[in-house]
Amino acid sequence: MALEQVLRPQDFATEVHNDWCPGCGDFGILRTIQMALAEMRMESHRVAIVSGIGCSAKTIHYIKTYGVHTLHGRALPYATGVKLANPDLKVLCLSGDGDGLGIGGGHFVNAGRRNLDMLYVIFDNGVYGLTKGQASPTLKLGVQTKSLAHPNINDAVNPIWLALAAGATWVARGYSYDVKHLRDLIIEGIEHKGYAFLDVLQPCPTYNNLNTKDWYGGEDHKDDKGRAMPRVYKLADEGYDPVVKDASDVEPKATQALEKALEWGDRIPLGVFYRNELLPTFEERIAKRVPTYRTHPPAAQPIASPDGVPLTDLTKLLRDLTIPAT
Ligand code: SF4
Repeated sequence: MALEQVLRPQDFATEVHNDWCPGCGDFGILRTIQMALAEMRMESHRVAIVSGIGCSAKTIHYIKTYGVHTLHGRALPYATGVKLANPDLKVLCLSGDGDGLGIGGGHFVNAGRRNLDMLYVIFDNGVYGLTKGQASPTLKLGVQTKSLAHPNINDAVNPIWLALAAGATWVARGYSYDVKHLRDLIIEGIEHKGYAFLDVLQPCPTYNNLNTKDWYGGEDHKDDKGRAMPRVYKLADEGYDPVVKDASDVEPKATQALEKALEWGDRIPLGVFYRNELLPTFEERIAKRVPTYRTHPPAAQPIASPDGVPLTDLTKLLRDLTIPAT
C-alpha cells in the first residue's frame, strides 16, 4: 500500500553515523534506494531490507525501514525467509560482490530457481573492501589493483550471465554515479513480478584504483576534441528491448542478454538486459498448494494468546517426526 502524501528521500534516512570512505560508490546506491522508496511512497513498515557482511551490508543501518544485517553470504536465504513469512512485505536484499558471489554463490543460483518476488542488489566493486581489498569474484583475470601484491590469478564471474543461467526473471545493471537511472532501475526491480537481480557498478576508491569514477566516465579515453568518452552507456538509448512477450521469446531474449553481458572495456552496457513476467512466482506456487497461504501467512498467525499463553503446539509435529526404534 502506498501513502497519499509526498515523501522525500531524507524521510528514509536514519541518524546512524556513516563510516564509508569519502567518495565511495555506496553513497550513490544508498541515496537511490531512498529516492526510489520516496518516489514509490512506500510505508517504512512495509519494507524489509536484508544484508550480509561487507561495506555494502551497512546500508541497512542508514535506511529507515525494517532491516537485518545477517551473516556473510547468507543474506539471500534470510531474505527468502522474510518474504515467505510475510509475502505482503516489499523485500530488498543487498550484498557486495564478494558476499553474494563468493561465499553466497550457491544461494545466488538457488534464488534464481525459485522466482521469489523480491529485488536482490549486488554492490559490485571487484574487491572485498571491508577486509582491505582482496580480489573478489568480479575482478578480472590478470588485473592488479593497488591492494593486491600480484595480479589476480582467478578469472571473474559474470553476474549477469550467472543470474540469467540461474533463472532470474529480471536482470539489470546500474551505475552508482548515475543516480536517476539507478533510481528508475530500483523502482522497476521492486515492481517486477518475480525475482529481480540488479548488479550495480560501484567504485571503491580506497582499494580499487582501476575501475574508478574517472575510468567509468572515460576521463582516460578522450575523442579527438579532448572530450571524455564514457565507458558506460544505456541499452535503452540503443533501442534494446529486453521484454519477453510470450514463450517463444524466452530463448532469443535470453540469448541477446547473454551477448550484451559480454561487453566490457570501452563499452559497458547499463539498463535492463532481460525481463520475463510470464512465470509464476514462488509465492503463487505455494498458494496453489496451501490455499490459505496469502490470507494467513506465517507472520500473520498468532503465536500466543493475549495473556501470553503459547498457541503453538509442536507435540504432534515432533511425534510425527520421531523415527521408531528398530
Ligand atoms: Fe567504500 Fe571501498 Fe571504503 Fe568499503 S573500502 S567503504 S567499498 S571505498
